[in-house]
Amino acid sequence: MKHSFSIASLILSLATTAVFGADSRPNIVFVFTDDHAPHAIGAYDGWLKSVNPTPNIDKLASEGMVFVNSFCTNSICGPSRAVIQTGKHSHKNGFMNNGNTFDWNQQTFPKLLQKAGYQTAIYGKSHLRGHPQGYDSWAVLPGQGLYYNPDMITEDGQITIEGYCTDIVTDMAVEFLKEKRDDDKPFMLMVQHKAPHRNWMPALRHLTLYDDIEIPEPTTLFDDYSDNAPAARHQELEIDRHMHINYDLFLDLTPDFPELPERTDKSAWRNMQRMTPEQLKVWRDAYGPKDKAFHEANLSGKELVRWKYQRYAKNYLRSVRGVDESVETLVNTLDELDLTDNTIVIYSSDQGFYIGDHGWYDKRWMYEESLKMPFIVKWPGVTAEGSKTYKMVQNLDYASTFLDIAGASIPDDLQGVSLVPLLEGENPSDWRNSIYYHYYEYPSVHMVPRHNGIRTNRYKLLNFYEFGEWEFYDLKSDPDEYNNLYGNPEYAQLINRMKNQLKRLEEKYEDDSDMSLKPKEWQDKVRPMAAK
Ligand code: CA
Repeated sequence: MKHSFSIASLILSLATTAVFGADSRPNIVFVFTDDHAPHAIGAYDGWLKSVNPTPNIDKLASEGMVFVNSFCTNSICGPSRAVIQTGKHSHKNGFMNNGNTFDWNQQTFPKLLQKAGYQTAIYGKSHLRGHPQGYDSWAVLPGQGLYYNPDMITEDGQITIEGYCTDIVTDMAVEFLKEKRDDDKPFMLMVQHKAPHRNWMPALRHLTLYDDIEIPEPTTLFDDYSDNAPAARHQELEIDRHMHINYDLFLDLTPDFPELPERTDKSAWRNMQRMTPEQLKVWRDAYGPKDKAFHEANLSGKELVRWKYQRYAKNYLRSVRGVDESVETLVNTLDELDLTDNTIVIYSSDQGFYIGDHGWYDKRWMYEESLKMPFIVKWPGVTAEGSKTYKMVQNLDYASTFLDIAGASIPDDLQGVSLVPLLEGENPSDWRNSIYYHYYEYPSVHMVPRHNGIRTNRYKLLNFYEFGEWEFYDLKSDPDEYNNLYGNPEYAQLINRMKNQLKRLEEKYEDDSDMSLKPKEWQDKVRPMAAK
């Protein structure tokens, strides 16, 4: 099989060279960030639009196509990346939880692109452990990595680089474009930022951005989860009860470790310890006055939640601004090198995120804000400018799409479908009308139970199977998922039909995960943050 594949790619490359002289297949720049929710992008709808959080990503969208109904299969960092690498659901690629180690020996799309004659590169956050395979050039952060003066694992070993993580990763991508490119091959460049992942530490130049405005609040900030299955009342990702005032919100944050439970993530303090005296001064000058104002205000109750929300949303959006500037730099570099016309630029992020929605931060749930992923594609000469598609797509589809773009054959065991017809403006009548979701990491940090489910254009059914609990929503009348209709007799028939559809999706994707009922006590105890 391996042998025949390399002959096939050789023939393809010979054929392309014969037809075009140099290989004229399009390059791909895939900018992929961590935890950037679509509703924190101006090109998507949401209450944060008024803040104008992403002018450069919006510009990309205005020149290309926005995928409005873009979803992940498992809303968490490592698993989303593993799905993209393989084009297979978590239960097939083996990376179901962040604690797993990715089997780099398996088939991945960059390996297939290499065989099809592409030069491949990845810089930034891999989150899959082990050294990346399938890349001609790479440098990755160890684990979650740090925001300031981070370590990077390179082909030549681990190094420390002074600067801000988003800028460093951008510089590496620019260096690839300017100096490492093979002129005889098209390339696939993956620029994978750590930002805006928790704990949302911005570039020093952005520490006072948004100081002069109030960020609008989500309407669901004070959701009491009264209508949900018990899972939503037993989580540990509330701004009110679970956000750490120093770790998450930087109040009085210094390089000195305070007294913390043993397993607490200490990366906030580690980041501070990485800073030079000059960098620390910029930090203190920015947060010192804000901290002083907070202490003087002596807030409590809802006012304290509102303050936390403001502090959190501003730092999140400041981290997003760094990513948006990276997009600007990359686009300008393509222009400078005369590569724009033959390069597809994609902006995406591994899942959505709660930015105070339902009173939460983090992701994991199949509810809309963390199920959705941004997916914006500018393919010069192919995607219509300022176009939108409402077809349901998933990160599961990216591998097939990249292979299709490269003219490579798509192996039968990939579980996604190529998005090229949508990019070309077609409106296929036989497109999927539902998506499948499965989240596994429980019990663990944030205590979101295992669940799977199905979402159609209008309805969503969630199964917290270990507890025997279900939820059902009509997204048309209830886009915020306030009104759980499970158990409502008017919907009984529809819910039964959806249960059958869910079963068919489990069969289609061959999900043989153990989904048996394991009745156990809901755990209310607030646990310390798990070590990363
Ligand atoms: Ca993530």
